Parts: sequence; C-alpha cells; structure tokens
Amino acid sequence: MKILPGRDASSTKMLKSLVMHKKDNGITVVSFDVEGTLVTTDFSSAIWFELIPGRYSKRYGLNFEEATMKVRQAYDSIGDQRLEWYDVQYWFTRFDLGNADIAMEELQPRVRYYPDTKDVLKQLQNKFVLSVASGSPRPFLKHLLRDIEHNFHAVYSSTSDYQQVKTADFWAAMCRDLDVAPGQIIHIGDHMQFDFIEPASIGINAFHLDRNQEGGMATSLRSLNELVPLVKNI
Ligand SMILES: [Mg+2]
Repeated sequence: MKILPGRDASSTKMLKSLVMHKKDNGITVVSFDVEGTLVTTDFSSAIWFELIPGRYSKRYGLNFEEATMKVRQAYDSIGDQRLEWYDVQYWFTRFDLGNADIAMEELQPRVRYYPDTKDVLKQLQNKFVLSVASGSPRPFLKHLLRDIEHNFHAVYSSTSDYQQVKTADFWAAMCRDLDVAPGQIIHIGDHMQFDFIEPASIGINAFHLDRNQEGGMATSLRSLNELVPLVKNI
C-alpha cells in the first residue's frame, strides 16, 4: 500500500486492523477520482488554457488567440488516451517553455474543491479506508490534494505509478496493492470510461458522477452527498 508520507505506525496499524476486520463483511475502501470529482477543473484549465498558451504566445510572438489555437491543435493530436496528454512537463519541453513545476506552483491559488468534498470525506473517513485513484500525474496531485490529502490512506496515480490511463489493468493492480477484492471497493468519478466502465468491468462497485447532468446515465450521481447513503447501505 502506498502510505502517504507522514502517516505514523499507529495509524498504519489501525488501517490494517480495519481492513482485516472488514475483510469478510463488505466494503472496506472508498476510492475517489480527483478532477471533476473532489476538485474542480479550474486549476487544470488554468494550466492548459491560460498558462501554456500564454507562455507559448510570448515565446513565439503570437497573440493569445493564435497561440491557443496552436496549442489546442497539439493537444488534440495526442488525445487523452495517451500518457503525454497528461504530462505538463512534456508540453513545456515540446514548446520550449522551461520548468513546469515552478509555473504550476504559481497557480496553486486556483485549486478549488467542490462544496460537498470536505464534508463527505469527513463523514466517511472513520468508517472506511479512503483512497484516491486519479489519472492525473503526481505533479498535478501535489497541488490538487494539498489541503485534503490527510484524509487518504493511499493515493494512486495511474499515469505516474502505472504508466497507463485508468484501464481495467490499473484497477486490478490497485486492488492487489490495497490487498482487497474488487467487490470490497467503492469508486466514484466523473469519467464514464475510466471511472465507471473500466473499474466495474473487474467487479469494483463503481459510481459515475455527473455533477452537471451532462450525458450521464439514470444511475449517475449528481453530487458526492448522494454517495453517502448508498455507501452506508451497501
Ligand atoms: Mg475526473
């Protein structure tokens, strides 16, 4: 298990006893996607559609609109099924824009949690092992989770830790690392394929989150608040 830095031996022991205790009788782990689920896309949007085009426009002497068009074309040429798409330093290097980490730190104030995030984590944290399963690389998660990471016993980045998007293989590897069966995990996230179809395909109790009611299913949840009674009744 990827225990977060700073977690002491006694809480690790407590976690293990919780897992052992719950092993035979149901859900042990509640797993969360990050962007679009716990954290708004403001921080990422600012990176992809303000920071990078802004730097590109200065570097190549284009106006912001022209730079945005060039950058978007490059993003589209890679697409979200490929790892490079998620890697800010890849784009900084490709466009010759310098160090991505320093630039990302400047945007920390743009990280926004959804109104239900902290309350739902608080309601669930003493009853379940909470973990994160994100497609965002760790350089993103460092910023996105800064104020809430103390709630989680484990954080998985499919792209940084397993070099893949959240495929069925990733979900199976995460279950092995947590040492729990897929049926003992609930996961919630806003991506129909990566947070619902793929985890459900290996037996994880997956919930699709459709906060804006755009293209979801009848069973999609509209907020994390709707997850709480479901988790308690499973
Ligand atoms: Mg998401």
